[in-house]
Amino acid sequence: MRSVAEHAALVAGLIRGTPVERLPLDQAAGLVLGTDLRATIDLPPFPNSAMDGYAVRTVEVASAPVEMVVSQDIPAGRLGVPPLAPGTVARIMTGAPIPDGADAVVPVEQTSVAPAGTDRVRIDVATVGGRHVRSQGSDVMAGAVVLARGAHLGAPQIGLAAALGNAELSVHLPLRVLVLSTGSELVAPGNPLQRGQIYESNAPMLAAAISATGARPTVAHFVADDVDEFRSAFAAAAIGADLVVTSGGVSAGAYEVVKDALTGRGVEFAKVAMQPGMPQGAGAVEIDCSGSPARSVPVVTLPGNPVSSFVSFEVFLRPAILAAMGHPPTRQHRRTRLLPLAEPLSSIHGKREFRRGLLDPAAATVASFGGRGSHLLGWLAGADCLLVVPEEVAELAAGDPVEVWDLT
Ligand code: AMP
Ligand code: MG
Repeated sequence: MRSVAEHAALVAGLIRGTPVERLPLDQAAGLVLGTDLRATIDLPPFPNSAMDGYAVRTVEVASAPVEMVVSQDIPAGRLGVPPLAPGTVARIMTGAPIPDGADAVVPVEQTSVAPAGTDRVRIDVATVGGRHVRSQGSDVMAGAVVLARGAHLGAPQIGLAAALGNAELSVHLPLRVLVLSTGSELVAPGNPLQRGQIYESNAPMLAAAISATGARPTVAHFVADDVDEFRSAFAAAAIGADLVVTSGGVSAGAYEVVKDALTGRGVEFAKVAMQPGMPQGAGAVEIDCSGSPARSVPVVTLPGNPVSSFVSFEVFLRPAILAAMGHPPTRQHRRTRLLPLAEPLSSIHGKREFRRGLLDPAAATVASFGGRGSHLLGWLAGADCLLVVPEEVAELAAGDPVEVWDLT
């Protein structure tokens, strides 16, 4: 039997890294930055007010309370603001440019209506230079590397890129992953079900898992357990894919359509020492691109049981897909920690077992959730973590530490 580590290395080695290209910000979100991002402007780009209030010369309001003439009104976005006339203040809004000559802003709450007229205001309290002024470059200085190559582009990073004037970013392109399920028993959700049939759930589940990595899934219509049908669906769907993921048809029974269709065509089928997810296959398949030269596409064949499919994705595909899209090793794996078990747990000796788990945050413990059966999708959906029990361990007692992969 092949070890989990051996199969993981084989899968990771199959998938080529995606190229770095410029994409608009909305498409760059969730991806990895391909080159350092350097600021070409300061942030803030000009000194501006942090408050709604009055821009003042601090020396002129030192004897507050003092009544002052309001010489101008400066909303956010005002261009060509003149300098502050001596002996006056300017009404100013948050984000508006500080006029030359002013050195502080007195918030409107620290002022009163002047009885003498609307072009005057009473400054109630004195202030100090710089107060409520956001100085130029106080957040980011032009020339600084603000995001390093390899950074994950979450919402704040996209916001920063936009604030610096970037409409596009250089990113590792999303991996294009084709998902193809097999099984003559499958029916598309939304249609009536007859006895003997089940709804196709692996492709939607895998597509969701692929999307969550930032890769781009395409779901091909599932195929029956028929080798010719599978081959033609595969050939059509694999064009334009960087990776093909199949589900079902790889175990030891009869009608193992994926195994029958891809054996001898570059995919190696093996038993991996894990539970669930023992039957696995991986390799590179030559596809004919009608006219253009033949191309070889990485193919990973997952077992059909829903929990096996999901766990195999987590163990083999998720890290490999993240690596191919430029994520550094520290981000290729789920957050992993050791937590004490709330209850004893038995495991299969000689196999790495992945059990569904439920965390108890208050007690800082974890317990297995649901049984071993790899059809228990309802329990998988209720779990919030995977528990990883090593090959050589058969029994764990309550309180023993167990490896936990956070799924949320
Ligand atoms: P297989 O790996 O094809 O032998 O399938 C193993 C088990 O998983 C069987 O009970 C199948 O009905 C089920 N199964 C296979 N493919 C899917 C799928 N796409 N969606 C839901 N269940 C599936
Ligand atoms: Mg099947």
